[in-house]
Amino acid sequence: MEYDEERQRPVVAPAAKPARAPEPPHPLLALQQGVGNAVVSRAMLARNRNMIQQQYDDARKERETFVAAGKKGPQTYNPSTNNAANYYGGFDVEYEPTKGELNVKLKGAVAFQDGMTLSAAGRAQAVEPSAQTAAAAAAINKLPKAARAAEVAKWTWSSNGGPDASDETDLLTGFKSSVEATWREKHPFHCTKNYWEDLGATTKINVEVAKVANAAGKAGDQHMLVNTFKVAKGFVGGSADVSRTGGATGSPFNNIMNITSEDVVPRKDGLLESKVSFQAGKGLLTPRSVGTVWRLAKEMPNAAPGSTIETANLTVKVQGKDAAQRKDRFDAVVDHLNQGGKVDASRVTMVEDGEGEAGTIVVGDGNAQTVAAHEAGHMFGLDDEYTGGGAYGAGKKTEHTDFAAAAGHTGAMHAKSDSIMSEGSVVRPHHYVTFLDALKQVSGMPDWDYGAAKPVKEPDGMGDFPTPGTDPGVPGGAAKEPETALA
Ligand SMILES: [Zn+2]
Repeated sequence: MEYDEERQRPVVAPAAKPARAPEPPHPLLALQQGVGNAVVSRAMLARNRNMIQQQYDDARKERETFVAAGKKGPQTYNPSTNNAANYYGGFDVEYEPTKGELNVKLKGAVAFQDGMTLSAAGRAQAVEPSAQTAAAAAAINKLPKAARAAEVAKWTWSSNGGPDASDETDLLTGFKSSVEATWREKHPFHCTKNYWEDLGATTKINVEVAKVANAAGKAGDQHMLVNTFKVAKGFVGGSADVSRTGGATGSPFNNIMNITSEDVVPRKDGLLESKVSFQAGKGLLTPRSVGTVWRLAKEMPNAAPGSTIETANLTVKVQGKDAAQRKDRFDAVVDHLNQGGKVDASRVTMVEDGEGEAGTIVVGDGNAQTVAAHEAGHMFGLDDEYTGGGAYGAGKKTEHTDFAAAAGHTGAMHAKSDSIMSEGSVVRPHHYVTFLDALKQVSGMPDWDYGAAKPVKEPDGMGDFPTPGTDPGVPGGAAKEPETALA
C-alpha cells in the first residue's frame, strides 16, 4: 500500500466455498434416534412437533418484521474498525432487505492535473511523479525546441488546452464503469439465522465521482480525493496508489488516490504473459528464457497446505516442429517452473501453438487489469497481493490475510496471479470479506455468510415426520415411514 509501484505489477473459476458444517439433524429425528423408539411417546412427539412449529413461526415472524422495517443504513464503513492490519479505504453501505441488496457507494472528488508542463524556457517538466514520465519528458527535451509544445500538450487536459476533447468526461465515466463492472454481484451472501436462510444479499456498487478544481474542493462526504494526471494516450507507466491521512486512526473520508488518465482502461503492459524461446531444433529453453521461467516460478508459490483460496494456474503455449518436440519443450518449462518445489506440475497446462521456436506463459485467465478497479480495491479495504521487496515477498501475508481467514478464506498471500489485488482482474471470494463485514455492521446482525440465499422449508411441510400411528400419505406414492419406527 505504501509502495508506489502499481505499474510494475498488477482465474476465472470462482474459488471453492468454505467448507461448511453439515446441517444439524432435525431435532425430532434426533429425538427419535437418541431416546429410543420404545420411550418416545406420541405425546412427546406431538409436543416437540409443536415446539418446532413454534420456533419456525417465531423465526418467520421475526424475519418479516426485520424486512418490513425497511432499509438498513446508509452508514459509513471504515475497514480499520475490525481489521487491525488495515489503514486505508472507506465507503458507504446500506442493506435493502426487500430487494436483498447490499449497496456499496464510493464517492470521490477528482482533481485533474496535467502530467507535464512546458517551462518558460521551453523545456518539458514532468509533474506526474513516476520514472517513466520523467523519461518521457527527457525524450521530449531532446526534440528541437519548436517541436516540444505539441508533445507536452498530449499531457495536458482539454480544459487546460490539451488536444483530447472529451478526456475529462471519459475519465469520469471510465472510472465509474470499470470499478462497478469489476466489483458488482460477484459473490452472494445469505443470512444464517435458523429459518432466515432465504434472506440474501447481492452486492451492488455505485461509484460517484465528480470534478473539483483542487483538493480544497473535496466535500466532507466524499471518501477520496482522486488526483488524476493526464498522460499521453497509450502511455505505459505512471504511479497509482491509495493512502489515508492518519492511517489506521484516520477518517474513512480522508483517502487520497493517485492515478493517470490511462488507468480507466485495461493496462497494455501484458503483466500476465511471459515470452520465452527455445533452442533451435531442441526441446530446451534458451538460457535467457530459463531465467524468465525461474523468476516467474519464484513469484507464484504453491498454496500453503490447507489453504482455501485458489492460486492462479499457468498455461504454456508452445511452438515446435512437431507434437513430440512441443511436448519436450513443454516438459522443459514445467521442470523449470517446478525447480525448488515452486510450481506444481498440476498447475501447468499445455497448448499447442504450431511451428516455430517461441513460447508464451499465461498466468491465470491472462486478462488485463484496469488500474482504477485495483485501486478501488484499496478503498474497499484490501491490500496488494502482487509481489515485491520486503513485506511484499512471494508467499508472505497481506494486510487482509488474517481478516479473510477469520471469514473462512485462508491462504491469501503475495503472489503473481490474475487476482484483482495482484496483477489481474478476478474478484475472488476473499476479496468480498470487507463487504461481508459491512453487511454485518449495517444490518445489525452477525448472522451472514457466503453463498446464495436458499429456500426455507416449513417443518411440517417436509413430510418426513409422520404423526405416530397415522399414515402420512406421502404425495406421489413415495415410500412412507416404516410404522415400526414408532412405539
Ligand atoms: Zn495497489
